[in-house]
Amino acid sequence: MSDIVRCPSCGQANRLPASGKAVCGKCKTPLTGGHPIDVTDANFAETIGNGSFVVDFWAAWCGPCRMIAPVIEELAASRTDVRFAKLNVDQNPRTASAYRAMSIPLLVLFKDGVEKGRVVGAVPRNKIEAAIRQYL
Ligand SMILES: [Zn+2]
Repeated sequence: MSDIVRCPSCGQANRLPASGKAVCGKCKTPLTGGHPIDVTDANFAETIGNGSFVVDFWAAWCGPCRMIAPVIEELAASRTDVRFAKLNVDQNPRTASAYRAMSIPLLVLFKDGVEKGRVVGAVPRNKIEAAIRQYL
């Protein structure tokens, strides 16, 4: 199991300390510990603008979104080549509409801020990994 996580802010690879609060060695941003990061209308473009990202478009009322959430958590914890983010479509309508998130759960794959592909529905982990291989 890898204990390296990428800084959600600058992308620097960091080794997680065994104890204590983990911060990026380069920019001092608190590290997420391999959890998906929450993105909003306000920080979306800036956050995903650099590197490979899978963004989970979700809503609290969406049953299938709750099914895919633990899969996204697992992937975020196990992969350092791709970062994972979650966007609540109800709270962030501007971004949801910009990416035509009509049907959720929706995973949109980004490279340096440009959409490379998307996966709709509560798909199994291997389908998400296949999409990452295909698009990123
Ligand atoms: Zn950093």
